[in-house]
Parts: sequence; C-alpha cells; structure tokens
Amino acid sequence: LTDRLGGIFDTLTGRGALSEKDVDAALREIRVALLEADVALPVVKSVTKQIRERAIGEDVIRAVAPGQQVVKIVHDALVDLLGGDGAPEGLYLEGEPPIAILMAGLQGSGKTTTAAKLAKRITEQHKKKVLLASLDTRRPAAMEQLQQLAIQIDVAFLPIVPGQKAVDIAKRAMSAGRLQGFDVVILDTAGRTSIDEEMMGEAKAIADIAHPHETLLVADALTGQDAVNTAAKFHERLPLTGLVLTRMDGDGRGGAALSMRHVTGLPIKFLGVSEKPDGLDAFDARRVAGRILGRGDIVSLVEKASQDIDQAQAERMARKMAKGKFDLDDLREQFSQLKKMGGLGSIMGMLPGMNKAAKAQAAASGMDDKMLTRQEAIILSMTKAERAKPEILKASRKKRIAAGSGVDVADVNKLIKMHRQMADMMKKASKGGRGGLAGMMGG
Ligand code: GDP
Ligand code: MG
Repeated sequence: LTDRLGGIFDTLTGRGALSEKDVDAALREIRVALLEADVALPVVKSVTKQIRERAIGEDVIRAVAPGQQVVKIVHDALVDLLGGDGAPEGLYLEGEPPIAILMAGLQGSGKTTTAAKLAKRITEQHKKKVLLASLDTRRPAAMEQLQQLAIQIDVAFLPIVPGQKAVDIAKRAMSAGRLQGFDVVILDTAGRTSIDEEMMGEAKAIADIAHPHETLLVADALTGQDAVNTAAKFHERLPLTGLVLTRMDGDGRGGAALSMRHVTGLPIKFLGVSEKPDGLDAFDARRVAGRILGRGDIVSLVEKASQDIDQAQAERMARKMAKGKFDLDDLREQFSQLKKMGGLGSIMGMLPGMNKAAKAQAAASGMDDKMLTRQEAIILSMTKAERAKPEILKASRKKRIAAGSGVDVADVNKLIKMHRQMADMMKKASKGGRGGLAGMMGG
C-alpha cells in the first residue's frame, strides 16, 4: 500500500495541463461507454470531438489522475449537451384555454401512458382542468385503455364515438374543451410500428386543427439507435416542442436521450420511470449524464478533490518535490489532505468496479481517518529539526516521540520507513512518471 500511496504524489510533480495523450486515452474508453449506452455513432463522434477540444489544455487537478479528470469533463459536457443542469424546461401552458398537448410517437412508445401521467401532473401541480381524448382509431382497445386510465386518475375523458376519424375527434375534443371550460386538452394519437406517410399526414392534420402548445415526441429509452431516426423523421414533419423518454426504469443506459436531443435540438421534458400514473419525472440532465457514462462516481470524486485540495499548497509541494525535498512536515500535509478528502476509504468507495472485498481490504489496511490522525500525531510530537532531518532520529528520540503521541516505537519506525520510501519515490517521480489515484489503487 505504501507503494500505491506514492501514486498520489506523482500527480503533484508539476504537470500543468492535460495532454493530448491523456485526453485521447480517456476518450477511447469514453467512446466505448457512450456506444454501450446506446448513443448513436454519429452522435458519439460529434460529442467526443467537442469534448476533446474542451479537455486538451485544461488545468490538471493535481489530486486526480488525468483520465479521471477527463471523465469529469465529459460528464460536464454531456450535461450541457443534454440541456444544462438548470431547472428542466416545463410545459408551456400559458394562453387562451383550451390549450392542446399533442402526443406523438411510434406504437408502444408509451404515448397513452404518458398522456395519463401528464394529465395527472397538470391537474395536481398546475391546478388546471384537463380533458383526455383518444384519437387512436386503429386499435379498438387503445381508446378504452386511455379511458380506464382517466377513470383511475380521476380526469375527464372525451366520450368515445365509434367510427369517428381521428381528425374529427380532434375537432370534437377542442370544442368540448372550449364549451366545458377545460384549461388543457391532451390528444393521444395512434402510432405505427414504423414511420409512414399516412401516420405523419394524420398527425399533421390534427396539429393544424388543435394548434397545440406542446407537441411531445414520446420515445422508448430502450430503443437506442432507432430513436435517432424516429426523432429526426418526426421532427421533419411535425413542429415538435419537446421529448419524453419512457422506460427509464429499464436497463438502458439512456443514450437515446443524448442522441435525440443532439439530432433534434429539442428539450427533453420528462422521463417515464414506471408504468404507474405517477411514474413521470422532470428531466434531470445530471442524472442522465451520470447514467450514460456509467462511471461509478468518478465525477463526484473529481469534484471533491478539486474542492478540497488546496491548490496553492499542492503547487508549493510540487516545487519542493521537484527539488527532491520531502520532509516529514510535507508528509504530514499529505496526510491532512487525504483526510480532507474523507480518507482513503471514502475515496475507494467512490471508485467504480471496486467490490466490497476490495473496499474491506482497504479499510483493514488501516488507511482510514484514525490511522491518518495517528500518523499526524507522531509527526507533531517531533521537534522542528527532527521533522526537517529524519536522519537524526535515534532510539532515544524515537522513544520520546512514541510516548508523546501515544504509540509504540515500532509505529514510529514504520512511519519513518514510509517516509523514506516516499522520498525515494518522489525523486523518481520528479524525473517523470505518473499514476494519480488510479496508480495509488493499483489499477
Ligand atoms: P403507446 O402505444 O405509445 O400508447 O404506448 P402505451 O402507453 O400503451 O405503453 C406501452 C407499454 O409500455 C404499456 O404496457 C405501458 O404500461 C408501458 N410503459 C409506458 N411507459 C412506461 C415507463 O415509463 N416505464 C415502464 N416500465 N413501462 C412503461
Ligand atoms: Mg396508445
């Protein structure tokens, strides 16, 4: 472990900015992560290109490995590309009622379910009077499905008139909305298994009648690559205002969100997270970015490191080390920085791919808060001269120090040995080499 601990000092040896090599190495991994998250290939290419430009030359956060820092840069870029981490864009419901919301999307994407979820949300959160109308004339059961949901959530439903065409139902829904004082009319449309002219023409005709404030494209988050084609084709024909991604409760990594947003430029407004009427979350770019990257919590690790590590202190240390000087006071500073980061145990806990056994082993090795405090105490029991020149520490001095810090002489010896090894490593490190936290963890 002492060897591994050395890695953290390597990062302090005066690297100024992320190099192209660091960035490219990290980006290779990230490209795989994006593809595994089902982000469409052209989107992956465009995104990684942007990220590369952003990352190269970025100041190195000295406490983390360059690769990890790139992950954080990628994460931040993804958040931006997904619409930023501000409040999600809500529904635009201002204007003269009744305001129409049109649901569009392929069959099975979740339009009907989402229509009901939205009705519930608008009723409860916006305190508006909502009318649900099914324009799905293709499948007889589809209308009843929405009717059942409307009853379940206690929202008004436009009565079914058998044999009526979708366009005529739209007209009837809007006039019922006007006459009966509804604020919002949600129009659920029929979908197909693939996009065809008839479906697009019908959706367009309905939009021309209802003049919807919101035309939401509902897409299944698990469809991945297909989602891009769907979004692009719909967007060509219909004036869409936003996206809803359903089945975010599934195993998918949510790459479709990035692809669709990238291709259409439309805001993702909601995420469907269950089959139930309350399973609709406001979109959260940070959460989705984290899921797409699937990189444990490296992001918060880097954030923590950049917050907690005193940059100026680190620079000072780097200069000292470059000169080959590393005394016991410097070692104590390192311990206190490690402690600020929550100790080694907490850092380990944030790394992905660390199983329980490895974490337990790390804890058992004693590199925890308590151990760091004890090491600090030993150093604090030394005189200034002893800290600057550990060579003068002979038996009698060690005995005094052990007594002063409440440890055994053996502990003092261990610390001195650790320091000597580190100082050696430091000399090597200042002649090049790297490692960072990853090096410290041995992987
Ligand atoms: P439509 O054909 O576009 O109207 O799709 P539906 O609304 O009928 O949904 C198809 C299926 O997907 C139904 O079984 C829904 O319960 C289910 N579904 C819709 N949204 C979600 C979601 O966010 N999560 C899960 N797990 N299932 C969903
Ligand atoms: Mg439906």
